[in-house]
Parts: sequence; C-alpha cells; structure tokens
Amino acid sequence: MALKITDECINCDVCEPECPNQAIHFGERIFEITSSQCTECVGHFDAPQCVEVCPVACIIIDPECRETPEQLTLKYQQLTQTPNDSLKLTKNC
Ligand code: SF4
Ligand code: SF4
Repeated sequence: MALKITDECINCDVCEPECPNQAIHFGERIFEITSSQCTECVGHFDAPQCVEVCPVACIIIDPECRETPEQLTLKYQQLTQTPNDSLKLTKNC
C-alpha cells in the first residue's frame, strides 16, 4: 500500500526530507506522495518515516493503491536496481 497525504496537510515540509525514496514533493496546494515511488519504507525502515514525523497525522494508506508486502519489496528492488539489473519497473497502481 502506498501512502497518501490528505487535505489536512499544513505544508510544514517535515516529511519530504525523511523519505528514503524521494517520493514526496510539493503539489499544487499541499505535499503529495508519488505512489510508484512509495514502498511504505519497506527495504529502508521498519515503519513509514513520513507518518512518524507528521505533526498532524494526515498521512494515510491510499485506498486506491493497496499493495502486498511482496509487491512493496519488489518495488524497493526495482527502485534501487542498477542499470544492468534485469528487473523491470512495474506499476501496481
Ligand atoms: S512511507 Fe516511506 S517511502 Fe512512502 S512516502 Fe512515506 S517516507 Fe516515503
Ligand atoms: S509532515 Fe504532514 S503536515 Fe507536514 S508537509 Fe508532510 S504531510 Fe504535510
């Protein structure tokens, strides 16, 4: 499951530098998460770092992007592969 930032975001910019996958950026109004780059921190940390630091608890599981632990691990491997690796980037949602 990739995560999603809700309208309660206060644009404090605390989460963006904590993301190991550079999946967080400022969107049109509030910060947003690029689902194809969010592994829920699988491969890097035991818990989603953005959720840990958000002061208003506005980061939730994206109901449109539910992924299994296996899919998240594969996504992590794809995001960290070198150009010579054979894994192809797949889109889950
Ligand atoms: S859960 Fe982890 S990978 Fe996903 S946006 Fe938050 S910090 Fe980045
Ligand atoms: S930490 Fe929470 S409130 Fe701050 S920018 Fe990120 S999502 Fe928005």
